[in-house]
Amino acid sequence: RPLVGNLIGEDHVNYVLMYNMLTGIRIAVSRCQAKMRRPVTDDDFIARHKYSFDIVGNELTPSAKYDFKFKDYAPWVFRDLREDCFQLDPADYLLSLTAKYILSELGSPGKSGSFFYFSRDYRFIIKTIRHSEHKFLLSVLKQYYAHVKSNPHTLLSRFYGLHRVKLPRGRKIHFVIMNNLFPPHKDIHETYDLKGSTVGRIYPEEKAMKNPRAVLKDLNWINRGKTLEFGPEKRALFTEQLRRDSELLKSINVMDYSLLVGIHHMRRGNKENVRSNTLKVFSPSVPSIRRKSTVKGGRSPEAIAIRRAMRESDPRRLGSEALQLPEEDTGDRQQFIFYQDEGGLQATDEVNQPMDTLYYLGIIDILTPYKSLKKVEHFWKGLSADRHKISPVPPAEYADRFFSFMKVIIRGGGDPTRFKAE
Ligand code: ATP
Ligand code: CA
Ligand code: CA
Repeated sequence: RPLVGNLIGEDHVNYVLMYNMLTGIRIAVSRCQAKMRRPVTDDDFIARHKYSFDIVGNELTPSAKYDFKFKDYAPWVFRDLREDCFQLDPADYLLSLTAKYILSELGSPGKSGSFFYFSRDYRFIIKTIRHSEHKFLLSVLKQYYAHVKSNPHTLLSRFYGLHRVKLPRGRKIHFVIMNNLFPPHKDIHETYDLKGSTVGRIYPEEKAMKNPRAVLKDLNWINRGKTLEFGPEKRALFTEQLRRDSELLKSINVMDYSLLVGIHHMRRGNKENVRSNTLKVFSPSVPSIRRKSTVKGGRSPEAIAIRRAMRESDPRRLGSEALQLPEEDTGDRQQFIFYQDEGGLQATDEVNQPMDTLYYLGIIDILTPYKSLKKVEHFWKGLSADRHKISPVPPAEYADRFFSFMKVIIRGGGDPTRFKAE
């Protein structure tokens, strides 16, 4: 299965950023992982580890220079989330992201200005986030952690790491690493981003016909008369998890999140090779790089260990080989209810027997707190449309509406047209 998209070399505008992000992740994560596992403490939630990189090119690439700082936030908390809650194999995680420096960039980033990158094997997403989102995630990390601990089957975005790259002129880029809800081995034939709001929530149908990768919205779902096909068992499990997740989102005061739904029709299979988004691939072709690192902490054992790790790691992380995605599920998510069937959830009939649709679902974009900006937007949008049906409403109302909408879109759940504005 070839990856869709164009190969992009060193001249790509975000090449250096990608290099810095991946180098930082590789060094910071392996440093944390080299230590014995221990229980998470209160201090771990406010811990930050700083790294300073000064990597210079050799005779062949005299101009190569990577001079940046990297900050790793709450590394022990994220390690525990990855290994204990989300059952990721620690070596796998690092290999997927950094064995080769290859990322693919999502075609058209959302209106927030965030960039999305997929790991080479399509399992992980790096999303650049705003400083406000970054501060917010840190401020609710304890609640998020506690929620995930007591809800191993949560539908919320799975955060695996929170980091920052600082470029020489002081530009700071914050980013999270999270799960890609969509599988590497199945085409997604339809994608919906659902909020439970209907005002303006439509993707033009004429355009949707021409673009199978379009991300459709609430009104498309309603107008097309779609339903989530779940039998009693899956319906009950899904509804209960959604209820608990919405309660958490309400309690941390966020809004604007959505349920992302990817649909794979098993009869159509993979032949169209349709992706949910256009991918562009970074393909670094740096011949050789010699690292000279300055690590804070001078002669401390840690600093020495990091310098050694950097020296010993393969300096060439090229990625010009052909990219192929697997034909089969890697099986790494099977222990999670909502990701148990081919990495997703298979439709079932009223006697819980499997049907020929696979759903890939999860709650995404959960880092927008309800603050002044949204209140202003609420006011203006509220003047011209039904105040309760627009997308920016206060968190409690948002969560309740979100939950009620998701209940009615399940087969037999009721009539979703009542969510439409007059
Ligand atoms: P905005 O704030 O304008 O909605 P954003 O930059 O915060 O945009 P998101 O809403 O997080 O972006 O995501 C935009 C799109 O990217 C989603 O509709 C979906 O198609 C894709 N996407 C985001 N997160 C994931 C994920 N975890 N797995 C798969 N696809 C994702
Ligand atoms: Ca969004
Ligand atoms: Ca957003």
